[in-house]
Amino acid sequence: MLTRRKFLSLCAKTTMAVSLSELLLADLDKAVAAKEIKKPTVIWLELGSCTGNTISLDNTASPSVKELFNKVIDLRFHWIFMNAEGTWATDIMRRAAKEKAGEYILVVEGSVVLADGGTWDNIAYENGQLVTGVSVLKDLAPQAKHVIAIGSCAAFGGPAAARPNPSKSVGVQDVLDRQVINTPGCPCHPDWFLGTLYHLINYGVPELDTYNRPKLFYGRLLHDQCQRRAYFEKGIFAQHLGDSWCMFTMGCRGPRTFADCPNREWNGTDNWPVGCNTPCIGCVEPGFPDVSMPFFQRYPDLKLPGFSANLDKAALGLGVITLGGLGVHLGVNLATQRLRKNLTETSLPLSPPGPRTKAQLEGIRTEAGSEDAPAQPEEFRPLPANLQVRRPKKARRTLHK
Ligand code: SF4
Ligand code: SF4
Repeated sequence: MLTRRKFLSLCAKTTMAVSLSELLLADLDKAVAAKEIKKPTVIWLELGSCTGNTISLDNTASPSVKELFNKVIDLRFHWIFMNAEGTWATDIMRRAAKEKAGEYILVVEGSVVLADGGTWDNIAYENGQLVTGVSVLKDLAPQAKHVIAIGSCAAFGGPAAARPNPSKSVGVQDVLDRQVINTPGCPCHPDWFLGTLYHLINYGVPELDTYNRPKLFYGRLLHDQCQRRAYFEKGIFAQHLGDSWCMFTMGCRGPRTFADCPNREWNGTDNWPVGCNTPCIGCVEPGFPDVSMPFFQRYPDLKLPGFSANLDKAALGLGVITLGGLGVHLGVNLATQRLRKNLTETSLPLSPPGPRTKAQLEGIRTEAGSEDAPAQPEEFRPLPANLQVRRPKKARRTLHK
């Protein structure tokens, strides 16, 4: 097995020829074959969800999920991947929970649906009765060794809980009185899930942030790892989706999102949204998607020393400074340092809000029934048609690959 130090350094590595999942599963496979570790029993519940996290995991070309299920984990229940159906399937799940009480890992995908006693999300049929997802979750969670909420819906409610939330969806942590390890993402990256699983199997619970996300993967601001950060610093912003400059003006939520997408990338190690000239929409954050909407609209204000302006005025100001003969280097340096300082330290909500209190949770559940249309935050304003931003005279190759 890898030492923990080696494992941590692999997780933090910025360039890899093969995916982290591939390395970790090969290692687990060897350890299981050599009887160094026992295959962990996994029960996978899907509640209010689009199955996106299962599909994301299934997208790992190498290793395939078949290898994962056959060689590394003892998967007892997953409604998509098993042959059994109906009572036969739920019997297997109940038997596994009894036999492996205190040992199994419960993976939950999807939000917990509370509307009408949870009956909007029946996931089983037992003894002639439909059984709700929330009741199965509450039955299985107490005896699980670990509970992992995979994807943003399971972690925080996610799109399933977006306003007006008629299904009264909430995250798994909101209904359980025990530790839940959150691996959010819409969907969750296979490495985030498998890396967390690897850590649990070999070294126990990884270090978590205030939202119970493993810091290994969600510990650093995305904006600080972005290949286009230099453009941000210099005030070189995209004017359209598809431009290869900083996507801040296109509504990039990188400055308030904690994930390692720029380094990890998706579909193996291929690319990520900003690399495809579209902004990050902050899918791993609590409150997503409501807190990120409307998508493609930039954060509103920019506080420059002595006055507050929006980005349009700031861009104009930069032009005036340059034309005013302060000198290109002096002007750019002054302006970008101020841009950087003000955008990153004063203007943007860099840290997500603290964990929800009980009163907030009550509020969520009450508000969940509201049928009001989502209010457009006042501070978001449409981009003006004549937005002027600085661009290099000659189009250069982008900083990213
Ligand atoms: S705003 Fe977005 S595109 Fe620009 S540097 Fe930050 S993360 Fe990258
Ligand atoms: S780049 Fe942003 S929106 Fe895309 S997966 Fe990462 S955190 Fe989510």
